[in-house]
Amino acid sequence: MIDLHCHILHGIDDGAQTIEDSLHMAKQAVSEGIHTIVATPHHQNGKYINEKNEIVQQVERLNTYLLQENIPLTILPGQESRIYGEIIKDYQNGKILTLNQTGKYLFIELPSSQVPKFTEKLVYDIQSEGLTPIIVHPERNGRLIEDPDILYNLVNKGVLTQITASSLTGRFGKKIKKFSMDLIEANLTHMIASDAHNLSGRNFYMQEASEWVASEYGMDTLYMFYENAEAVIKGYVCFQDTPHQVKKKKFLGIF
Ligand code: FE
Repeated sequence: MIDLHCHILHGIDDGAQTIEDSLHMAKQAVSEGIHTIVATPHHQNGKYINEKNEIVQQVERLNTYLLQENIPLTILPGQESRIYGEIIKDYQNGKILTLNQTGKYLFIELPSSQVPKFTEKLVYDIQSEGLTPIIVHPERNGRLIEDPDILYNLVNKGVLTQITASSLTGRFGKKIKKFSMDLIEANLTHMIASDAHNLSGRNFYMQEASEWVASEYGMDTLYMFYENAEAVIKGYVCFQDTPHQVKKKKFLGIF
């Protein structure tokens, strides 16, 4: 299994704090059947700045440790950039990293409770650079939960999305689990990833989520998620079913 979203690099964001943390996370990942992790430190989220060169060096260092410790896991470079106005300029200046440096896919994170007005324009600008934006954990964005059509419109324009394994297993609550299911059913999401930060509250849960997806939606859906994760790290085209609008809730009243 490939995990596209993980805060396994130590000491650079709110994920692993020490190399020991990173190695413990690595062992946990392997125990869940993960063989490849894209390390995606936060960038420009108001607290952390992690530019391309630093991330690439840290990934190399962690891979060396993993070899020394005989942990069968490969780390690839990535980045989780908060959506910000200068992202294109910074990409052109070599500060922004595409996932596994294929020059194809860019992770973008929205603020937790809103979708900035410039999002659509920025998505267009990213696409004009030949990149495909992947919105991470849309299921945890308050504004999108309120108005899923915003996401529908973005996906219709070619944006991909990644949901969090632990959202599906219910660790962010019922509302977020339900919205995650809405997104799968409306073809508004294309891959799952852990967004693991540690081994306590923000663990991987990839195996649990995979089993849940298989039982709820069947192996075809699970394989689609797996194959898209592989496509992302190889820079191939992802599979994308025709998106639909999320069905509006029916009001149940007693008359
Ligand atoms: Fe993250």
